[in-house]
Amino acid sequence: MRLFSCFVLSLFALLNIGVVEISSANDRSPNVVLIYADDLGYGDLGCYGAKGWTTPNLDRLAAKGMRFTDFYVAQAVCSASRTALLTGCYPNRLGILGALGPKSQNGIHADETTLAEVLKSREYATAIFGKWHLGHHPQFLPTRHGFDEYFGLPYSNDMWPYHPGVAHLPLEDRLKNWPYLPLIEGDKIVNANVTGDEQAKLTTWYTERSVEFIERNRERPFFLYLPHAMPHVPLFVSDKQKGKSSHGLYGDVIQEIDWSVGEITATLERLGLTQNTLVIFTSDNGPWLTYGNHAGGSDGLREGKGTAWEGGVRVPCVMSWPGKIPAGQTCAEPVMTIDILPTITKLVGAELPKKPIDGLDIWPLINGTQNAKSPHEALYFYWGQHLQAVRSGQWKLHFPHPFVSVSSTNAGADGKPGKAAQKEIGLALFDLNADRAETTDVAEKHSDVVARLTVLADKARADLGDSATKQKGSGVREVGIIKP
Ligand code: MG
Repeated sequence: MRLFSCFVLSLFALLNIGVVEISSANDRSPNVVLIYADDLGYGDLGCYGAKGWTTPNLDRLAAKGMRFTDFYVAQAVCSASRTALLTGCYPNRLGILGALGPKSQNGIHADETTLAEVLKSREYATAIFGKWHLGHHPQFLPTRHGFDEYFGLPYSNDMWPYHPGVAHLPLEDRLKNWPYLPLIEGDKIVNANVTGDEQAKLTTWYTERSVEFIERNRERPFFLYLPHAMPHVPLFVSDKQKGKSSHGLYGDVIQEIDWSVGEITATLERLGLTQNTLVIFTSDNGPWLTYGNHAGGSDGLREGKGTAWEGGVRVPCVMSWPGKIPAGQTCAEPVMTIDILPTITKLVGAELPKKPIDGLDIWPLINGTQNAKSPHEALYFYWGQHLQAVRSGQWKLHFPHPFVSVSSTNAGADGKPGKAAQKEIGLALFDLNADRAETTDVAEKHSDVVARLTVLADKARADLGDSATKQKGSGVREVGIIKP
């Protein structure tokens, strides 16, 4: 029996060797389904320890594939995070920081290359159903950046005159800051004033569109990007999911996202596409803790969205591709969303963007190659233009920086934000293997590590800039700005 197992394993290993050679083989390039939740915390999935709600479809996806425990976003805020995901670059390199809003004038520069454009070069059908948040002016919309189809909100669902936090103000005052929230199809506004009832249908609409897109493109390679509006506040859930969890509205919303994942994986299964589809699920940043019971959790990581602490930048990530990614695996190597573009580019045999990118191929980690290591010497965590932390291996060095801190005493509730405290940290080193909650500064004990990470950070500052040291960064490129 043991001999037989060894034979099967060896055969599997042999078969696995050919995995990255997909493009040179004659078989079809893999489909890519990339699901991106908004403000979903590290601890919000069942397979990451969530309590109060269940995520059976996401747990199944993880059980069939790879679950990352040390997966990061580049910055813990929407637009910066999405820039990294779709371009493989630190957002500082492209000049897109923070969360763009209805008054923003910028977006991804036309000369930059998105993952959708990489896949278009291999004749993929491409679609985004959900929140774009990389520039709402026509020249920045998804259809100008490699997507054939777009249906969704141009920015966050809280940039909205009916937000519970401003509902007490006269409408005309609210509209000065937060105009009516549009829903866009292609490059046209199809609904100029999205209501709460309609927000409650967004997850369902995005899911239905996704299923229809997969069905329509079953005979050709496709890239489906599904950046949900949820669970970003204000939270909304459809009637069919309301009251289903034991944790109120937030739990219902997560369960609806899980339902959506189930609809998509069932569609792939029904059409016989599961074996040829890489499914990735992750989040754009950690939980927005200031919203209290309308925010998720980080399973004990420190702080949340809007910080360079682990609770802000470490997110759940599962990847599934039966036959190519072995089932039930866990990867604890530190990697980032910037790695998705170069990894998929290589998988499909496309060319990397002409301009330099920051991400690296992590396929050996995704497919569970024994002893594979993160290709990054270090990962860098900026808040805006301020380099606040660097991670290398088990170590994370924070440079002196202010941060917002939320506890049970200053969090809000039921859709209204609390008031986060302003705190500061000095130079501090944490051993994430022993102390993933970043509680104990070990800088004095490991001055050699501090020195090594400081040198790496100085290199990043020279390249990407740093507001703290007033450096501009030689590798920073031009951001897209609307023409006057
Ligand atoms: Mg977000």
